[in-house]
This record gives sequence, C-alpha cells and structure tokens, in this order.
Amino acid sequence: MEKHGKSRQFKGSDTLAVHAGQFPAIENAPSSPALYQASSYEFDDLDDVEAIYGGTRPGAIYGRYGGPNALHFESAVAELESAEAAVGAASGMAAIGAALATALKPGQPILAASGLYGGTLALLENDFQERGNRTVFVDITGDFGAIEAALARERAPVLYVEAASNPLVRIPDLPQLARLAHAHGASLIVDATFVSPVLGRPLAFGADLVLHSVGKYLGGHGDVGAGVVAGDRARIDRIRASLVRNGATLPHFEAWLALRGLRTLALRMTRHAANAMAVAAYLAQVPAVARVHHPSRPEHPEHALAARLYPDGTGGIVAFDLRGTRETVAAFVRGLETIAIVHSLGEVATTLSYPAVSSHRSLTPAARAALGVTETTLRISCGIEDARDIIADLEGAFAGLSQTVPATGVPV
Ligand code: PLP
Repeated sequence: MEKHGKSRQFKGSDTLAVHAGQFPAIENAPSSPALYQASSYEFDDLDDVEAIYGGTRPGAIYGRYGGPNALHFESAVAELESAEAAVGAASGMAAIGAALATALKPGQPILAASGLYGGTLALLENDFQERGNRTVFVDITGDFGAIEAALARERAPVLYVEAASNPLVRIPDLPQLARLAHAHGASLIVDATFVSPVLGRPLAFGADLVLHSVGKYLGGHGDVGAGVVAGDRARIDRIRASLVRNGATLPHFEAWLALRGLRTLALRMTRHAANAMAVAAYLAQVPAVARVHHPSRPEHPEHALAARLYPDGTGGIVAFDLRGTRETVAAFVRGLETIAIVHSLGEVATTLSYPAVSSHRSLTPAARAALGVTETTLRISCGIEDARDIIADLEGAFAGLSQTVPATGVPV
C-alpha cells in the first residue's frame, strides 16, 4: 500500500481489505478515456486543498461538483458548438431548468414557442409558473411582427425555442429570432436536440445558449440520460453553479457514454438525415398518407429556410398524418415488424411514436389540432439502418392496413 509516496505495512485483514493493492503505474494513454467513477478525491495536504479549490492546481473535489469525464464531454461539446464553454447535466430537463432559472428573476415572464416538448411545457407551466415566471407562448414560425410585439409588450428576458419542432419539424428562423430578441434585450435559448451540433449550430445563428437532451442524438444508442448547455463562459458558470447546488450535474458513467456516442455523431447524423429524406419521399406517394411533415418536402412551410439553415438535413425525424382514425393508427402500428413504439428519438434504431398518446397526451384534441397535431399524426425517428429496410417495414404495415380496411370499415 503506497500513498503520497509513503509506504505502510498493514497487518489487519480489515485494514488490508480497505487499503490493499496499487493502481498500476501506466504512463501511456488508453485508447478510450479512463472512467473516473470516484465520488470523491484525495488531497495531499491542506495547501493542496487550497490550490485545487482555488483553481491554481487542476484537480477534482467531489463527484457532484463534476468529475474528469464530465469535463471531458463538456469540452468536446463546447468545441462542436463553437462555444466558449459547456456544462453537462443529469438530464435534458435539468439542463433546461438550470438554463432558464439562471436567466430569470422571480416575476419575470418567459416568451416561448407554442409547440415545445411536453416535458418543457410541464416545467414552464408548473415550476416556473409557481416561481412567478409566467410563460407567454408565441408562434415562432409565424408573423415576425407578432413576435416583436410580444417581445416589446412582455419585456421577457428570455425567448425559448426548439431548433426543429416536435413532432412536425417546423423550423424557426433562428438568425431572425436572435436579432429580434437582442433588439428587445432578451436572450435566445435554443433546444437543438433534434438537429445536433453536426447539422446546425444555433450559437452561430446568434443564439445565446444552446442545449440538448444528450440521450437523443449525442448519446445516440438509447443508453444515456443526460443534458448539456453551451454558450459564453459567464452564463455557463452560473448554470454550473445552479446544477451543483441542485445536485443535477452529469454523472461520470453517463458522461463517459455520452462522449463515446459523440465520437460517431457526424456519421450517424448524415445517415439519420438521409434516411429521413428517403422515408419522407416514400411516404409522400403512399395513398394512405394524408400529409408528410418534413422540411425536405417542397410543400413544407419552411422548405427553403431549412435548406438555408441546415443544408445537410434536419435530423432523422419525419411525421405524417394517416388517413383514417385512431383505429387506423392502431392497425398500422400492429403491422410494423422492426420499428418499435419508443417514446424517445435519435437512437440508432428506427422508432415510432404516436404524439396524441405520448408527447402531446396532456393536451386536449383541440389544443393538439391548434399545433397541427392530429389524431392520426405519427412521428418516425429514422435510425441508421439501410433506408430500404425501414421503408420495407412501413410498406408491410401499409399493405396490412389496406387488407384490414373492409373488415374495420376504416377509410384509407
Ligand atoms: N428536449 C427535447 C426536444 C426532448 O425531446 C426531450 C426529451 O424527450 C427533452 C428536451 C428532455 O430531455 P431528457 O429526457 O433528457 O430530460
């Protein structure tokens, strides 16, 4: 047993069980990063405590304050987003909560896009509402005059949007929103989970903070729960301090997995985006499909804008409205062989969700309809498989559907 260069001979087996063994003196780097699963770190002496706390000597202190694996992942995301700094969080929701909480004083309103992820809506309408931060929703893909009027009227310090909406993949004009927000003294915070830093960098479009649910594309394999926020150092320092106080920092193994996922992000995003385009083109000519929602389609309201902001695609999400009813949806889903119902997205496997019973479950049919989400809207998260196999599975389900039509009387 050796510690700080001092060797001790222990006799008791209880003591040996606690202290025996030496970490091998390996000096060459491992080809994948070492995992520091430690929840606390040792200091050599009190000078060392001062140096590490004071930041004059690099070192880790305590797991919740962030370990080496989290710092490694954060620095990689900061580079990918061309940001000064980034901070990891225990989940996408923890990242969103800390980013908003540090940008708002109690009583200040939030201006937010009307079609946000349901978890974000729930956070705004419960926790932030209770803190006195009421949310004013605006159609961010609509009239800029109305957005500007809301910014002027509300004097909200934050405009919060998603880079691509869920599930209809509507695309806000981020450069224009950043200009409007800044002209009214507001910060633009963008949840870019759907596009990832490989396909679009909101900070380069003028946003002040960009954040991700890391369990989607960044992690990519459906095995990580984590979040990350990137932006200027002063904001990120405030968000980090809030995450540490709330115990919502990024755990070590999740950081390790997230970084491993990140290494293949560019390859995966290229395939996700190409598969989404192929699936959208296929769906557009299926008679049982009433409408396809994907920016690559000429009829999509932001077809030209998406091509300008995201020339390499908008990610793997495609939505479509089936002709028929909920029963048609149920029959279609039963007919799929490999595409599973999964209430997440961005994984290597193609998955499907039915927003009316998942992400948009808490809304009334009328509120869903106002967002353009119908009782037969389905969302596909295209994976990285061969596009022909994804389409073949869809074809099989559509074929089964047309066979069930006479029996159920469902118009297709
Ligand atoms: N943002 C978007 C766009 C999401 O889809 C989700 C989760 O589905 C979140 C944020 C929340 O992330 P997490 O589940 O990691 O907390």
